[in-house]
Amino acid sequence: MFRFIVIVFMLIGSLWSAGLEKKVPILCYHRFGAEVADSMTIKNSSFSEQMEWLRTHGYTVVSLDTAMGYLSGKVKTIPAKSVVITVDDGHKSVYSDMAPMVKKYKIPVTLFIYPSAISNAKYAMTWEQLRELETTKLFRVESHTYWHPNFKHEKKKLSSEEYAKFVDKQLGGAKKKLEENMGHEIKYLAWVFGIYDDALLIDAKRAGYAAAFTIDRKHAASSANMMTEGRYMVISKHTIKDFERMVDGSEDRMPKGKKEGAKY
Ligand SMILES: [Zn+2]
Repeated sequence: MFRFIVIVFMLIGSLWSAGLEKKVPILCYHRFGAEVADSMTIKNSSFSEQMEWLRTHGYTVVSLDTAMGYLSGKVKTIPAKSVVITVDDGHKSVYSDMAPMVKKYKIPVTLFIYPSAISNAKYAMTWEQLRELETTKLFRVESHTYWHPNFKHEKKKLSSEEYAKFVDKQLGGAKKKLEENMGHEIKYLAWVFGIYDDALLIDAKRAGYAAAFTIDRKHAASSANMMTEGRYMVISKHTIKDFERMVDGSEDRMPKGKKEGAKY
């Protein structure tokens, strides 16, 4: 009997490693430009090169919603080499520089937006521009809190009552504001600076988010907590070889200290 149980466990283990565990790489961008203005700005030619690389190597860019449907078991199959593209912060270069390339490659893109900046901050897009991007059916707006705060600092600064109100505004308030302005359900959240704690994970779920995303450099996975799924931030110094290691899973398999993320 004992031997039988051991064999069953071994079989389950090997099936698991053989691919029962579902994984999808999610990339996180910020800004785009003809020239590199700072580390977070990706040169337009580099982004094009990355999209070409995906195409010639048999990758399919799928929407975040499709990938999360797959990881949670609602969507049965997606292409074997699937990758998701997300962009944080709503910078105006998404409209001016990235959108033409997105239309050219016809790839779905999720924009994580914090509403306080929209139609307000100089560097950000307007609500009209966001709605125009969504009419292409390629872009989809999701939440990046209300005004991009540092939850750790605010927790130290505010009384517990004030902090509870503040969290409610950043999670539930942002969702509501985005839904009013975009006219559709907001399902996903990107943690600001990748900062979260156990209480915030519960708060985000309670606010109605189906999943939330960090900048922990690993594939989003069916075995992971849906409120802390990983993403790879792509910055200007990344070469096409670095990019390849993100999407093919080799960076995910590296020991933690050796990962790209350890360098910045
Ligand atoms: Zn951000």
